[in-house]
Amino acid sequence: LKNDQLDAWDRENFFHPSTHLAQHARGESPSRIVTGGNGVFIEDRDGTRLLDAFAGLYCVNVGYGRTEIAEAIAAQAKELAYYHAYVGHGTEASITLAKMVMERAPAHMSKVYFGLGGSDANETNIKLVWYYNNILGRPEKKKIISRWRGYHGSGLMTGSLTGLELFHKKFDLPFDTVLHTLAPDYFRREDLSMSEAEFVAHCASELEAMIEREGADTIAAFIGEPALGTGGIVPPPAGYWEAIQKVLKKHDILLIADEVVSGFGRLGSMFGSDHYGIEPDFITIAKGLTSAYAPLSGSIVSDRVWKVLEDGTDEFGPIGHGWTYSAHPIGAAAGVANLELIDKLGLVQNAKSAGAYLKNALQSELGGHANVGDIRGDGMLCAVEFVEDRDGRTFFDPAKKIGPQVAAALLTEGVIGRAMPQGDILGFAPPLCITEAEIDRVVAATGKAVRSVL
Ligand code: PLP
Repeated sequence: LKNDQLDAWDRENFFHPSTHLAQHARGESPSRIVTGGNGVFIEDRDGTRLLDAFAGLYCVNVGYGRTEIAEAIAAQAKELAYYHAYVGHGTEASITLAKMVMERAPAHMSKVYFGLGGSDANETNIKLVWYYNNILGRPEKKKIISRWRGYHGSGLMTGSLTGLELFHKKFDLPFDTVLHTLAPDYFRREDLSMSEAEFVAHCASELEAMIEREGADTIAAFIGEPALGTGGIVPPPAGYWEAIQKVLKKHDILLIADEVVSGFGRLGSMFGSDHYGIEPDFITIAKGLTSAYAPLSGSIVSDRVWKVLEDGTDEFGPIGHGWTYSAHPIGAAAGVANLELIDKLGLVQNAKSAGAYLKNALQSELGGHANVGDIRGDGMLCAVEFVEDRDGRTFFDPAKKIGPQVAAALLTEGVIGRAMPQGDILGFAPPLCITEAEIDRVVAATGKAVRSVL
C-alpha cells in the first residue's frame, strides 16, 4: 500500500482517540504510520527513526522488538488463543502470571484480578470498594476522593476520577460520587512562602477538612498515583503519603494506589507503593505488566479486602463482575515473558540508576535556563516545566503552547518526549532499558529544542 492510500483510508474510517478530529480530517495534525521498533527506537513508513523517550504511552518498559515476548505470544496463540476465566477457569499462563505478580507485590496484598487496560482495572477497584462496603453493611460509604490532575482512565467512573478538565468537558462528568482534592505539586503551590513540610501538612488538612465536611461515613476510598503522571509528572513531596495515609486510617477510608504507570519498575522500585511507603488496599496495574506487548491489566486486593470479599460470596453468591477477556491467555503469556525479562535484564535497577543520570543530565543542560522553572523526576519518570519568569514563578499564557512547541522541536531532533496535557511541561518516561549514551542523545536534543523555542 502507498502512504497516500493509507492516509486516505485513515481519514475516511479511523476515529482516533485523544485527537483533534477536525484538524486530523483537514490533514493538519501530524500523523505517523509506525512500522517497527527496536530497543528505544521506533521507525515509520518513511524510514524515519525516532528515539522514543516516552515508551509509547509510558508502557513499553522493556523496549521494542523483544523476540522473547513475541515468541511467548505466538506459542500461546498456537496452543490456545483463548479461554475465559469465569467460574474458576484458567490457563497455565494466567495462573503463572498471577503467582509472579503476587510474588512481586507488597507483602500484605492477596490476589490479582486480571482485566484489559488501566481504565477497566480502576473500574473494577471502585466496584470492589462498593461491594466491600455493602457486604460490611455500610452502603452509604460510597464517595471516592481523587486529586486534581490525577489520571485514572477514560471510562465514566474513571474519567470522573481523572482530575483533568479535558476529560470532563462536554461529557457531563465528573459523577457526583467523586470529589477532588489538592494535587501534591509543591512547585505549583499557591502560596510561595510555604515550605515543603507546610505544603504537605496543607494537603493533609485540606483532605481531612473535605472528609469532615462530607462526613467520613460517606467516603469509601481515596485514589492516587504514587507519583502524578499524566497530570504533569510530579513525584510527591517528602512525607506526603505518610500524612495522607494517617488521615485515611483515622477515618476508615480505603486506599487505591493507581500503579498503572509506576508498577513493575518505573520509579526504580518494583512498585511505587514500596518506593514511597504506601500501604494500599488496592493496587491498579497495567502498562508495565506486559510492557504493552498485549493488553492486560490487574486489580490487586489486600488480605483485609480479600477476606471480606471471600466471606461475602459465601453469603451473597458469586461476584457479578467479569470481562470476556479477563486474564486473556495471550496477554498472560506476554506478561510472564515480560516479567522474566525485567528480572533478567535488571531493569528495575536500571530505572533507578539511569533515571538519576537522566535527571542530572537535564539539570546540567537546562538548569540555568531562564525559562526552566523545575526539573523533577524519580526513576525513569522525569519532567521539565517551563515558566515565563523563574523568580516570580509566573507561567506562560497557555495560548502560546510553549510545551507543545518544545515537544515538536524535539521531534525534529529525532526524539519523542510528551507535552503533558496541562501546563508547559515536557515529560520523559523512556523504556527502562535506555542506556546512558541514549540518554545523552535525548538531553542534547532537548537542550537544542528548548533553545530553539525559548
Ligand atoms: N491510570 C493511570 C495512572 C494511567 O496513567 C492510565 C493511562 O495512562 C490509566 C490509569 C488508564 O489506563 P488505560 O489507558 O490502559 O485504560
